[in-house]
Amino acid sequence: MREELDRGLAQLGVTHSARQSEELLAYLGMLLETNRRMNLTAIREENTALRLHLLDSATLLAVAPPPQGSSVMDVGTGGGLPGMVLAILRPDCQVTLCDATRKKVDFLSSVIGELGLRNAQAIQGRAEELARTQQHRDHYDYVTARAVAALDQLAEYCLPLARAGGLFLAMKGRRGAEELERARSAIAALGGASPQLFPSPLAGMECCIIKVKKWRDTPREYPRSGGVIRKHPIGG
Ligand code: SAH
Repeated sequence: MREELDRGLAQLGVTHSARQSEELLAYLGMLLETNRRMNLTAIREENTALRLHLLDSATLLAVAPPPQGSSVMDVGTGGGLPGMVLAILRPDCQVTLCDATRKKVDFLSSVIGELGLRNAQAIQGRAEELARTQQHRDHYDYVTARAVAALDQLAEYCLPLARAGGLFLAMKGRRGAEELERARSAIAALGGASPQLFPSPLAGMECCIIKVKKWRDTPREYPRSGGVIRKHPIGG
């Protein structure tokens, strides 16, 4: 496991220490162990999880790494992906992991405690509600999400949390390009600009990363409530 992880990270050009590898594997162990009791993720086999969880999350660092010292928000982090991987590999960043489900947040808080990570915290909440609070709105340098919602809806969850000048990174599957076309007007309305699509360096066109720059604060009418976002995506 350790060799495969180190080889994968090296392929991605992600420099890391022996301690970071150990932390990543300890985290993966806790994820798979807890997954036997609670349904945190669909993937249960170790080597598959190493590739599809740890290395896939690390592709963000290869394609669009957060600037030094960034405040990072991972929306709909679930079992901690990609946020835990970013927190372990980038101790210079302050990483907030948010999820709507309490049991997932409790699991992450215990992992953060066990690993003694000082740059990560898990909070329970829906992104569109957090974005209505002064503490979180127009705040983060770097907002990520993987496997949470279609991009037109996801943009309304995530972009309001980014500060003007910050980045929104969506990790998407093979329909990323199509989703991007449908989300262009939402991205523009929310203060985002010039989206770029990068194929995953590990999975080619099977996965992609969509990078959006936020250039101005999100207008006050967004985000709308979760029900409205899902029923009437902007531009849909
Ligand atoms: N990002 C993880 C989990 C994906 S599953 C991974 O790639 O493995 C989607 C997760 O998003 C679920 O845990 C769900 O609770 C959470 N979620 C969905 N909508 C959300 C919202 N609006 N705000 C916060 N969390 C949300």
